[in-house]
Amino acid sequence: MAEKHTIVLIPGDGIGLEVSQAVVAVLNAADAPLTYEERHAGLIALDDGHDVLPAGTLDAVRRHKLALKGPCTTPVGKGFTSVNVQLRQKLNLHAAIRPVRSLAGVPTRYQDVDLVIFRENTEGLYSGIENEITPGVVTSLKVATEAACTRIARAAFEYARKRGRKKITVFHKANIMKQSDGLFLRCVQRVAEGFTDIVHDALIIDAGCMRLVQDPSRFDILLMENFYGDVISDLAAGLVGGLGVVPGANVGDAAAVFEAVHGSAPDIAGKNIANPLALLMSAVMMLNHMHETRGDERCKQAAERIKTAYNRALGDGCKTADLGGCLGTSQFADAVIERL
Ligand code: ATP
Repeated sequence: MAEKHTIVLIPGDGIGLEVSQAVVAVLNAADAPLTYEERHAGLIALDDGHDVLPAGTLDAVRRHKLALKGPCTTPVGKGFTSVNVQLRQKLNLHAAIRPVRSLAGVPTRYQDVDLVIFRENTEGLYSGIENEITPGVVTSLKVATEAACTRIARAAFEYARKRGRKKITVFHKANIMKQSDGLFLRCVQRVAEGFTDIVHDALIIDAGCMRLVQDPSRFDILLMENFYGDVISDLAAGLVGGLGVVPGANVGDAAAVFEAVHGSAPDIAGKNIANPLALLMSAVMMLNHMHETRGDERCKQAAERIKTAYNRALGDGCKTADLGGCLGTSQFADAVIERL
């Protein structure tokens, strides 16, 4: 039997435990050539007496270069740096890539959404540089470097060319943040000169939000800095059925971590009602990435089988509560498995 790829599985906490169990069941049933090294982060790691992001978890991702990750809660106001932010910065996962697509069987106001969000993942307001200047006065620094702005722009243009996408729209606020967003725009412009086959334009983010909800079909790839990418990802999720259906990849030169856009959703955790589709779609992105970077055809086959099966399940009306259905997390996974 051909060898399997070991990936790091970080189930996370909250709904992470349920959705990752469901996704692994589907991956196994689809004969994805994977074995899992399970590692913890977030609340579970803290409860075990470790750091919120244990060194062992980070080392495992460095070693295997790939992780499938459920959402991890970082306790608020207790001095912990977010697990997600740490993971992205320490592994230099500079590009967050989030495809947002209408799904047959998931009726929403829009039928033809097909966007890919490229979010700079390592700096901006997430650089964690905050100071209390004097009691009652705090600052939070937004960092933009030419290197990171150029890198995310290049990632978006290369992706567009490779996938036959036609247009990149930058969301920015350079009219107010003239230096930082101005640099972002200049870097995009410079990179664009090497990609004359891809159209690009720029919109001030507030106007961009309005146009996005008026007619998302006018957009193709959306490119932006870190904080805007966070907000626009949830807005875009709302166009296609919610956070239960938007996957993501955090890609760097040395590693890639695949995770849903949603968080740990404590309000619905432990009830077997969370939608596992966003993490399942992230796993499909991971398999396609493995096919591209490792040339393993089995990964592509498993990805295609899973994608076809979940589309069939949705088409047959098998849905979790967030999409108006009545299946639980594990029942939805079973419905996908039946259709593999
Ligand atoms: P974070 O700040 O950690 O990214 P968030 O603000 O995006 O989190 P989430 O925890 O992702 O918030 O979820 C917001 C709400 O969306 C949840 O409370 C839940 O009701 C719903 N939700 C999120 N993910 C799912 C899912 N997979 N299935 C069903 N509902 C979900």
